[in-house]
Amino acid sequence: MNLGMPRIGPRRQLKRAVEGYWAGTVDAAALSDVARARRAEAWRQQADAGIDSIPSNDFSLYDQVLDTTCLVGAVPERFGHDGGPVDLDTYFTLARGTTHGAGDGTRVVAPLEMTKWFDTNYHYLVPELGPTTGFALSSTKPVDEFNEALALGIVTRPVLVGPVTYLLLSKATVPGFSTLELLPALLEVYTRVLDALAAAGARWVQLDEPCLGTDLDDEARRAIDVAYAELSRRTLKILVATYFSGLGDNLELATELPVAGLHVDLVRHPDQLPRLLDHLDADTVLSAGVVDGRNVWRSDIGRTLRLLGPAQDRLGDRLWVGPSCSLQHVPHDLDSETSLPAHLVPWLAFARQKLDETTLLTRGLVEGPDAIADALAASDAAVATRLASPLIAHPGVQERVTALTRTNAARHSPYERRREIQRQSIPLPPLPTTTIGSFPQTPEIRAARQRHASGQLSDDAYREFCQSEIAHVIAQQRDLGLDVLVHGEPERNDMVQYFGEQLDGFACTTGGWVQSYGTRYVRPPILYGDVTRPKPMTVSWSRYAQSLTDLPVKGMLTGPVTILQWSFVRDDQPRSETCRQIALAVRDEVLDLEAAGIRIIQVDEPALREGLPIRHRERAAYLDWASECFKVATAAVADGTQIHTHMCYAEFGDIMDAVVALDVDVISIEAARSQMDLLNDLAAVHYQAGIGLGVYDIHSPTVPSTDEITRFISQALKVLPAAQLWVNPDCGLKTRRAPEVAAALRHMVDAAHHARQPA
Ligand code: GLN
Ligand code: ZN
Repeated sequence: MNLGMPRIGPRRQLKRAVEGYWAGTVDAAALSDVARARRAEAWRQQADAGIDSIPSNDFSLYDQVLDTTCLVGAVPERFGHDGGPVDLDTYFTLARGTTHGAGDGTRVVAPLEMTKWFDTNYHYLVPELGPTTGFALSSTKPVDEFNEALALGIVTRPVLVGPVTYLLLSKATVPGFSTLELLPALLEVYTRVLDALAAAGARWVQLDEPCLGTDLDDEARRAIDVAYAELSRRTLKILVATYFSGLGDNLELATELPVAGLHVDLVRHPDQLPRLLDHLDADTVLSAGVVDGRNVWRSDIGRTLRLLGPAQDRLGDRLWVGPSCSLQHVPHDLDSETSLPAHLVPWLAFARQKLDETTLLTRGLVEGPDAIADALAASDAAVATRLASPLIAHPGVQERVTALTRTNAARHSPYERRREIQRQSIPLPPLPTTTIGSFPQTPEIRAARQRHASGQLSDDAYREFCQSEIAHVIAQQRDLGLDVLVHGEPERNDMVQYFGEQLDGFACTTGGWVQSYGTRYVRPPILYGDVTRPKPMTVSWSRYAQSLTDLPVKGMLTGPVTILQWSFVRDDQPRSETCRQIALAVRDEVLDLEAAGIRIIQVDEPALREGLPIRHRERAAYLDWASECFKVATAAVADGTQIHTHMCYAEFGDIMDAVVALDVDVISIEAARSQMDLLNDLAAVHYQAGIGLGVYDIHSPTVPSTDEITRFISQALKVLPAAQLWVNPDCGLKTRRAPEVAAALRHMVDAAHHARQPA
């Protein structure tokens, strides 16, 4: 069986089609053709690989949670949808927002909020539900796609986001409202969908309830019971799917549901298998998620067969085998990679290879290991070579990690003392202005990078090109009157990949794209071995930028936790260990920047919150090593060197203690989107260090006015003293267009200047 395929296309066809549709160069019919071709190809690949239970409705033009919102007609009022099917333009407006009118009459319709799907870097669009939300069946997508596959001769298993997970992931529009109150109404729509699928000929439906891997309160547990008591009355067989976490204390709840099958993640939690076998009903199917859907390593077939042996004996054909979760989290096809190091290729499996592993495992279980002897031997050999390979071990790295002590992770002096020293070493006005690092990545920058990568532009010419970009943004920032400048990051394709390309122990793919949100795809580097830094990675750019001005230029690095989180990392040692190795490499870079005369260094950790384990009781341990790694990376500098960090697009309220523990001199946060919540959180814990207030929502093409920003700053000044505040955009500017950025930064600097005047 399989839970879902990547949908973006091996050559990013979906991105081109969707963005073309937005730009008006691709019409709806052409977009729908591209989407149909993607689905057909995915189904064909699964059928060819021998997958016997193939999903449908795992495809999405943007996001599967948004698809669910449209399916059940939960379109918030501001989008002006008056019932009936949700059309394509409304669908994309929900995702991206829109602006009506111009000038003073401009009305901005904000998109749905976006947030991370459990502990992944995939973002879903958050449904907004309130006491007055009504549901109505408003899309035929699941049935249409089922029929589409049927026409190709494939009877699929449609996949839907489960009703309880959908409600729990929603945001209440009224404080204190429990979205679970809407369950009965929502179930009516789900019932209709299930009936329609049954009428079309479906035999199974998959309802994804990853909430079963989270800490559930009694109300949520009751909701699960109620939902499946109701839905199991329909004729369709239901497979409830969980992933990313073990069932833990929800195991009885899950196994007692009156459903036909249960899918569990045995990659993250193989240890739950014996208990599952004890609790499972005599006629329930167990779908064993044993092929890692979140990572790119080749399966250890022998080990997996041994794990599943007892299950096979007990369950026979009630045991299904599949990936741990949808394969949307891994790249399409290893075979299309041409430039990976040769030794690495036999260790890897992308989506297509994972399909083959799935059918291989099924055969090995049903027909016995002898039936797959050759493949089994090849797998054993690949696993053994990888673990013993000298290419993953780098002398000295493990020793350096072992030698780390807490003192390596502490600044020389406490913050109050550093603040006094830095007042001398880095003179700044009150409410200093700065940016988060990147400046617009213009088509010229992208073209130059591509020409350099393909060998058309020499190293020297490329360096000169980047330097001219740096000179340009330095001049621009000086003219605008910013106080702390940045070099603009023109040399970086991506804040993680740039470092992955330069650190040893990493390999980068050419086409290993995965969807991060909508049409934004990323190419996570593969961290396969001990991490070392052969040479400085950013120093020459920062030094060049600093040579152009007397104003302080901020050095710009990605933090160890974010590099870990946004890479496919080795699974042969704990993540904490790998993170410490990255931290040491970043530490060396920080010290080199300091030695090159850079007085302010920002180490970005936007993924710190995302790495938080799904289960509460595992969180403290994670936060402990994650903040230790950040400090290992940053704490070695002199008291007079100012360490900044930046975080964005996550709720930090529940990790405030860890944020304090990072012991930075300045933290810049996104605030334009989250309405000052964070400032209140920081004020509540009596945060002492500098706080960079994000006053410009960089995900929107709207340029904030000076008045708006001024109001924003004065609001913040009600909560925090002026001496603590910095003024900056929410995040990097790389996705914005240069004219918007110039105007927005001018307004930002003006607003900061106004705010400096004594009232
Ligand atoms: N320094 C990075 C930039 O400005 C930070 C990006 C991020 O937080 N995601 O682009
Ligand atoms: Zn950011």
